[in-house]
Amino acid sequence: MPGLIFDPGSEGTDQRFGYVVPKFSGRCVCCSADAGGHVEHYDITAPSGAGHIRGAPVPMPVCQACIPHALDRTSAGYLAGSVLALGVLGIAVGFFMGESEAQGPVMAGGALLAAGGAGWALLQSAREKREKQPGHHPRLYFAVLPGMTSLISDNAALIDELLALNPNARRPGPPASG
Ligand SMILES: [Zn+2]
Ligand SMILES: [Zn+2]
Repeated sequence: MPGLIFDPGSEGTDQRFGYVVPKFSGRCVCCSADAGGHVEHYDITAPSGAGHIRGAPVPMPVCQACIPHALDRTSAGYLAGSVLALGVLGIAVGFFMGESEAQGPVMAGGALLAAGGAGWALLQSAREKREKQPGHHPRLYFAVLPGMTSLISDNAALIDELLALNPNARRPGPPASG
């Protein structure tokens, strides 16, 4: 699944705004070229899909060529990311509930939401495929919910980079169970 969840409350996280601001390497989030220090700001306050969290825009490195297409700014993109984040949150909540009657339904509901959100995001990115150029991964989605920050991109190099730079980043999915 091409995306990341950022858990709050971990080291290496800027939480000034009440949500996780991921650290980026300085390479373009779309084509992984050197962005030359240029950043585009992802405004999480714009559409209402972000759960009414207000805060400063999140700076992300974007090279000059990718400015028009690197970041998704549609409300549908926010909603897809939010649904995914909510689903993962449900799985996590269910996991920490321990053995109880509600655990199964909560985790199942969470898994359903996470799958739906990811599928929705993929559907949208598929819709954009015709304008996609080789080596580019346009329309990064970034979504914020209380206590949950998620980023969706099909740029595998970016995902790996963010995993390395952000100790609190992880791939979405149920917690590993033994
Ligand atoms: Zn670029
Ligand atoms: Zn690009």
